[in-house]
Amino acid sequence: MIHSAVLKLTLYYVAAIMLLSISFSVALYGIYSNELSNGLRRPPDFFQTQLNPTNYEDFRHERLVEASDNLKNALYIFNAIVLIVGAAVGNVLARRTLQPIEEAFAVQSRFTADASHELRTPLTAMQTEIEVALRDKKLTKQEAVELLESNLEEATKLKTLSDRLLQLARQDKVDVIKSAVSLEKIAIEALNNVIKVASTKKVSIENTVTDIAVCANQENIVDAVTILLDNAVKYSPAGSKVLLSAKKSGKQACIIVKDNGVGIKSSELPHIFERFYRSDSSRSKNKVQGFGLGLAIAKNIVELNDGSIRAQSKEGKGSTFTIKLPTSS
Ligand code: ADP
Repeated sequence: MIHSAVLKLTLYYVAAIMLLSISFSVALYGIYSNELSNGLRRPPDFFQTQLNPTNYEDFRHERLVEASDNLKNALYIFNAIVLIVGAAVGNVLARRTLQPIEEAFAVQSRFTADASHELRTPLTAMQTEIEVALRDKKLTKQEAVELLESNLEEATKLKTLSDRLLQLARQDKVDVIKSAVSLEKIAIEALNNVIKVASTKKVSIENTVTDIAVCANQENIVDAVTILLDNAVKYSPAGSKVLLSAKKSGKQACIIVKDNGVGIKSSELPHIFERFYRSDSSRSKNKVQGFGLGLAIAKNIVELNDGSIRAQSKEGKGSTFTIKLPTSS
């Protein structure tokens, strides 16, 4: 599709260049022929003495035809060169113009393919379970309850995924309204969002965040910190501790989430903020649930708030995620 777009755009560029070149050539030919004809109208003294008017008219006609043929040939060659050079330049320009569109198109296609894949997995699981149950003539009530529970789990996964996808789609359009907000308040809200999951998993969270004011959208940053805390709990073993802290340096403030969990391989670290990226261990062993969208959303949110997000990690030792934001004063 993109190749035909390049071809089309090249043709438009060439058509525009040729229109200019041909107009210029026609105008030049008209002016030159006129000038030549005027210049040869009055015979020079040499002809007045040597030739009669009829001979001079023949001579004038011959000269005019010859000069106009020469000019025509020169203009044909000129336009042929413009056509060749124009096609080459037009092609380069068309490729350059369409390159960002091509890249955005590739990202979009990859995103759609990944999203479809993630949607298909729970749907296929549900479909298979239901089909098997329907074929079973002796399905007990207990088995039916188990099937419904399993289906509910898959449906919850689908809902989480659609919520995440919606969150990403909305982020592309939002205009963030920022104000002075306290990191302490943000930390408490984010903590409240994950406390239940953390206590179920027996992971404790220590919060030492103090009242540092940043310029951001409170709801946004609460979402981002919640994602980091949720991951810290998800990727930590039972009984371990997560530390939530903050510090201020100059016009920047940081909120830090540190865990002692499974950590991230250094080869995987550069990719964790990509949409749908999940480390091999989280994906293949299917130990930890997720879609690989959390960190992409957190990064988007933080960048919309003029901040940055950074990850440091050692495999088997734990990870530290830092959100940097501008202070409000
Ligand atoms: P998800 O957790 O749903 O897979 P994320 O975008 O939140 O997606 O994270 C992407 C990947 O980064 C995860 O699959 C995991 O491998 C890795 N990751 C994120 N946070 C942590 C963490 N605190 N400890 C270890 N690995 C992490």
